[in-house]
Amino acid sequence: MTDRTLLLQTFDALLQPERFRDYGPNGLQVEGVATVRKIVSGVTASRALIEAAIAARADTIFVHHGLFWRGQDGRVTGWLKQRLALLLAHDINLFAYHLPLDAHPEWGNNAQLGLMLGLSAQSHFGEQNLGFLGGRVDEACFESAEALAQHLEFKVKRPVALVNVAKRAIKKIAWCSGGAQSYFEAAIAAGADAFITGEISEPQAHLARECGVAYLACGHHASERYGAPAVAAQVAAQLGLQHEFIDIDNPA
Ligand SMILES: [Zn+2]
Repeated sequence: MTDRTLLLQTFDALLQPERFRDYGPNGLQVEGVATVRKIVSGVTASRALIEAAIAARADTIFVHHGLFWRGQDGRVTGWLKQRLALLLAHDINLFAYHLPLDAHPEWGNNAQLGLMLGLSAQSHFGEQNLGFLGGRVDEACFESAEALAQHLEFKVKRPVALVNVAKRAIKKIAWCSGGAQSYFEAAIAAGADAFITGEISEPQAHLARECGVAYLACGHHASERYGAPAVAAQVAAQLGLQHEFIDIDNPA
């Protein structure tokens, strides 16, 4: 077991939230019990995850998508009231780290997605340097964007939306987890042959065709399942806590 304050300091030391301009508060979003024994990690602090954490007898939840975002109107009603009521009634700590969890060079979403796909980053690109740019660890090429899409589908276990017009091998690969549609132009400018993220929107399909750079969208959730458990496992081991990852699947 450990102390909540030490747990916060350990997460902060690892993820360095002060380095990022983010869309919501990073760190302890909801204060629960002072002595921590078990962390449940997950992608999003949904009601289903909170209920699963209660059933798993966790006193702490660690997520990528917390409860509070810039632009919310601040009313604690409806779904937000329900989630908060559950956390408070069970004295559960909620820790959330957004961009710092995408960015961590070893345990973050992008690093872990790359690891799973057999990719290593040589450099970074885009807003706040969150995008990863590199290629296969074995330095080989994918013979086509279709081959890369197949590999991605196999690894994330879901259909991938692929927009590709170029008939060429894929060597330089850019990736950024979640809803990183807006990173596509920076990936093109950085010389990528293909860009992998979670989501696709209308403009990117046209850009992919017009610029000849393949666009692969494998699901926001599916691309961000890996950072939270990796970081939580690391910190739990360091502090002697139990840890369990609970995936609340999401087709998004
Ligand atoms: Zn996300």
